[in-house]
Amino acid sequence: MSLLHIITVPDPVLKQTAHSIENISAQIKQQAADMIETMYEAPGIGLAANQVGVLNRMFVMDTNYRKEKTSRNPIVMINPEIIWKSEDLSVMEEGCLSIPQQYADVERPKSVRVKYINLNGEIVEFVGEDLASHCIQHELDHLNGILFIDYLSRLKRNMILRKVEKMKKDGIIL
Ligand SMILES: [Zn+2]
Repeated sequence: MSLLHIITVPDPVLKQTAHSIENISAQIKQQAADMIETMYEAPGIGLAANQVGVLNRMFVMDTNYRKEKTSRNPIVMINPEIIWKSEDLSVMEEGCLSIPQQYADVERPKSVRVKYINLNGEIVEFVGEDLASHCIQHELDHLNGILFIDYLSRLKRNMILRKVEKMKKDGIIL
């Protein structure tokens, strides 16, 4: 396994749409393992392929990681699709490894049902609530070139982008 470089804004790869994965090759399995390792090392609770410069529809997540660092239960979602969203909404503060050290409240459906393919090639359905719901939607957005700051006002978004730009210039982040 190897750590991957996490791409940060305003890299255009973060605005691109990722393509479906046709078969679970050895290369795809390696990508998943590397993304999992990179997510834990960051540390983060989710990481999408675009963020490591690969434009295929895969993300990894482990929303329990923050609570219990010793037990790791990563989920790899390939070609994920949200097939149901609750009418109930929830507001949570979100952050993103591609937008370092910036956080903002985002409103999203409180629960979602997602259908995806796992590393064994099986079709799986999973219901995520609260943090898991936000995480699934946030990561799936990445595969469609959407960032959480796209839900904010232009003023707030530009403020965040300027802060990241300054941190890069000052060498605080790469
Ligand atoms: Zn993100």
